[in-house]
Amino acid sequence: MVIGCDQFLAQLGEYLEGDVASEVRQQLEKHLVHCRTCQVLFDSTNKAIKVVTDSGSFALPSILAESLVEEIMSRIRSEGASGEPKGPREV
Ligand SMILES: [Zn+2]
Repeated sequence: MVIGCDQFLAQLGEYLEGDVASEVRQQLEKHLVHCRTCQVLFDSTNKAIKVVTDSGSFALPSILAESLVEEIMSRIRSEGASGEPKGPREV
């Protein structure tokens, strides 16, 4: 089973909390290998969460992790780093 970006993003908050089943984690990691957009997203979110945890609180509430994911995701999309095709385009 191969998951898409939507499913990856839906699970990312829980994944970063270590709160997913090993089967789900394998699917997420498999997706990460192939998807540049999600690699950037994962990396950015992971770093942002680490900054939060380093500054005091140990666990980031998943609601906060999710809003963080959305914020970073929209930033990546607005920068045009998304792999979503916008139509036929010749190089
Ligand atoms: Zn992806």
